[in-house]
Amino acid sequence: MGLFDFLKGKSLKGKTKQKSSNTIDQYSNIKTLHIESMMYYQKARELYERNEVFFPTLQESARFQLLNHQKNGFDRVEILAAESQSCNVCQKMNDNVLTITTALKNMPIPRKDCKHSPNENGEGWCRCTYVPYVDDL
Ligand SMILES: [Zn+2]
Repeated sequence: MGLFDFLKGKSLKGKTKQKSSNTIDQYSNIKTLHIESMMYYQKARELYERNEVFFPTLQESARFQLLNHQKNGFDRVEILAAESQSCNVCQKMNDNVLTITTALKNMPIPRKDCKHSPNENGEGWCRCTYVPYVDDL
């Protein structure tokens, strides 16, 4: 569980409670978080394709997704799997709603045990993502 301790430490550092405002700083911050997420995703994909260790990098991508949604003023997220194309592990995650705080703590996705398109190491490429969750009123 050393890996998760490492991520916990990092997520604490990045956690800043701020009310949403319309300052330019706020916008550039949101943009940066989104770009960070995309960069980690791309890097993870490269590692996956080279059969190198990619999971912590894919987790970082998911973490920045969460921080981005948090900065955008959301409290909760919904997990979306890749619909019928996702493996049975990921399908169980689909439609799960949780607070961003809990998600940052537990990091339920990506799934280490994902079975989708495993590389030579037998590690699947989990395509579960977080989307902002808003109550239906
Ligand atoms: Zn999967």
